[in-house]
Amino acid sequence: MDIPRFFNITESEHRIHNPFTPDKFVTLGAALRLKPGARVLDLGSGSGEMLCTWARDHGIVGTGIDMSPLFTAQAKLRAKELGVAHQVDFIHDDASGYIAEEKADVAACVGATWIGGGAAGTIALLAKSLCTGGIILIGEPYWRQLPPTEDIARKCLASSMSDFLSLPELLESFGNLGYDVVEMVLANQDSWDRYEAAKWLTMRRWLEENPDDELAEEIRSSLSKEPVRHVTYTREYVGWGVFALMPKLVSFPCGSVATSED
Ligand code: SAH
Repeated sequence: MDIPRFFNITESEHRIHNPFTPDKFVTLGAALRLKPGARVLDLGSGSGEMLCTWARDHGIVGTGIDMSPLFTAQAKLRAKELGVAHQVDFIHDDASGYIAEEKADVAACVGATWIGGGAAGTIALLAKSLCTGGIILIGEPYWRQLPPTEDIARKCLASSMSDFLSLPELLESFGNLGYDVVEMVLANQDSWDRYEAAKWLTMRRWLEENPDDELAEEIRSSLSKEPVRHVTYTREYVGWGVFALMPKLVSFPCGSVATSED
């Protein structure tokens, strides 16, 4: 079981497989006011940077599930490197439909919401692993600027303009699903560059070492087109952020409250 080899090659040197920089995960961890011993579930955990650094900085414990054997192995190495291997566990598996046996204080899917068939489905999936009072984290793209044409939307690697919402619409959509948006940390153009531009050097070096590989032509073509495509389209039009959600509180006439999930 694996993701397409193209991603394992182009993102082999990434610690974070998203338009987030390490400082943004630091900001997010602090924003969530994580307590030592808090349990974090991460579907599509990639190379494990979020769980490993939060284990080091906040004493959380957690589990990450990822379909890439390479990224999962990198996550385990990172856990050892940061001295948190006893706190975090990384499982190589398909996370679609994954429900944790032990409920989590934070249930996350950061940049992999196809796992639940989109943001709404992924929120519903994560909710099944969340303890009362817990926080769901969703990493999603949005339109920073609405692309003027469908062709431009496709050049941003969306299949159409309707793939993403504007930031206000995205936040509103979480409300419509019955969630309060309780925190957020957004990527910016520089953090997009860390995700995208880091692939270019990786591709260049991979091509030097693997000129005859069956993917060499595809990687060469990507390296020659991606820098200009990124600065013309993705960098200008696509935003990305991690949104922290809690089920809305529902008031009863007697004045007691319950979460909408109860
Ligand atoms: N959250 C991580 C990785 C995001 S990239 C980070 O912030 O760095 C998306 C990740 O989802 C990749 O690591 C990919 O291997 C993983 N993935 C894709 N489909 C998956 C699936 N069905 N189940 C589990 N992981 C999946």
